[in-house]
Amino acid sequence: MVAGNWKMNKTLQEGVALATELKQSVKNPKCAVVIGTPFIHLATVAEIIKGTPICLAAENCADKASGAYTGEVSAAMVASTGAQYCILGHSERRAYYHETYDILREKVLLALENGLKPIFCIGEVKEEREAGKQNEVVKAQLEGSVFNLSAEQWADITLAYEPVWAIGTGLTATPEQAQEMHAYIRSLIAEKYGEQIANDTTILYGGSCNAKNAAELFANPDVDGGLIGGASLKAPDFCTIIEARG
Ligand code: PEP
Repeated sequence: MVAGNWKMNKTLQEGVALATELKQSVKNPKCAVVIGTPFIHLATVAEIIKGTPICLAAENCADKASGAYTGEVSAAMVASTGAQYCILGHSERRAYYHETYDILREKVLLALENGLKPIFCIGEVKEEREAGKQNEVVKAQLEGSVFNLSAEQWADITLAYEPVWAIGTGLTATPEQAQEMHAYIRSLIAEKYGEQIANDTTILYGGSCNAKNAAELFANPDVDGGLIGGASLKAPDFCTIIEARG
């Protein structure tokens, strides 16, 4: 899978233009292609990409089902736009909006209950990497928010390993660092759900992945694709990354 995360970029009109360009360029991808857009773009973009191989993701959903939560957008609302995926646990939401393991566990459950497939992000910050704590950090993130799921629920989970020090910084993890962590994550899934499910789980790499370095990152056996921020905002770059996954 190659998934884009537009973050808080693009007006509705700019988003329509980008989705239209992608619709014209992404014809026969050899991997799943997902674009993650702001809430307000979802329904319109869903119409634009209807009948194409491109799937749609929200970048978040509420941790409550419905009710008096001004400004929030529920998983049911996201699903009603035609989106199939929901990015959850992104480090920006953990850091700036104080999303805890418990909150994320609720969000994941609500997404699944409403037929959305979570793209669940995990990853350590720079200080944790420097202290050699990256493995314990991602293990705690998995145990805190998604290892409560049944094997059946797990089938709808995509993971994205995103070292926080690499997001939007231009500092990409080396292919060796990415492979090492992805293999570790897969070993944790195997311990919890068994080898078969671990092998079937899609684990994306995210963090300054771009048109130039994608092929090298995706060449690793445990790197199943990418979650792409900045480079997903330009159709030609995003298409080159999709081709690199092929
Ligand atoms: C992201 O935000 O998920 C991401 C990977 O961003 P960037 O590609 O810009 O580092």
